Amino acid sequence: MRVVLLGAPGSGKGTQAQRLMADHGLPQISTGDLLREAVASGGELGQRAKDAMDAGELVSDELVLGIIRERVTRADCGDGFILDGFPRNLAQAEGLEPVLAAINQSLDAAVLLAVEFDVLMRRLTGRRTCSVTGKLLNIYFSAQSEIDACIDAGGELVQRADDNEQTIGNRLKVYREQTEPLIEYYRSAGLLQVVDGEGEVDAIYQRLLDCLGLNPA
Ligand code: AMP
Repeated sequence: MRVVLLGAPGSGKGTQAQRLMADHGLPQISTGDLLREAVASGGELGQRAKDAMDAGELVSDELVLGIIRERVTRADCGDGFILDGFPRNLAQAEGLEPVLAAINQSLDAAVLLAVEFDVLMRRLTGRRTCSVTGKLLNIYFSAQSEIDACIDAGGELVQRADDNEQTIGNRLKVYREQTEPLIEYYRSAGLLQVVDGEGEVDAIYQRLLDCLGLNPA
């Protein structure tokens, strides 16, 4: 199954993609994660991406499409994948089509995780990652036991460099201007599904599984 997860920053794409990966073996392909790795490794690709990321702007389509082209042709994508944070604009969505056609694949669904603006803000400003387990947490929403588990494992709650208020504002603006048009793009292609992305992570996950037909009847 080949799925695009659509949604604003903070809509929960990463969290839900991680669960789909764990339960259904579908690799999560997060361009944001791949770009952050590239920045951390200090190579040329990362250097080209860093300024745009720090400002909350989109990295160039050419660079991101190159990353996707390389990633979807790896062996672990043979049975499908979840695209998380890609495509981010129409040029990327259109660019994805020949990449998939070249490997005789096509998308099965584009799922929009729908979340109101004020919830997005709290999710983004409260978002942390455990430095030991890599688990995504939120200082406003996560259970104290989950936060304690990170601390007890010797971890720290790390905030992403671009999760500060100014960059968050810009990322949401970029989403509205450049990424939201993809909702119509995938609706026209007959691929769009909309899932209510608010509430408990487990309940959202069940709605996502239902819409992908992955819940046992
Ligand atoms: P994310 O982790 O998906 O929120 O992405 C973090 C940042 O990485 C974004 O604000 C962009 O600067 C960059 N980025 C991630 N995915 C893309 C993409 N598909 N196209 C362009 N830039 C991207």
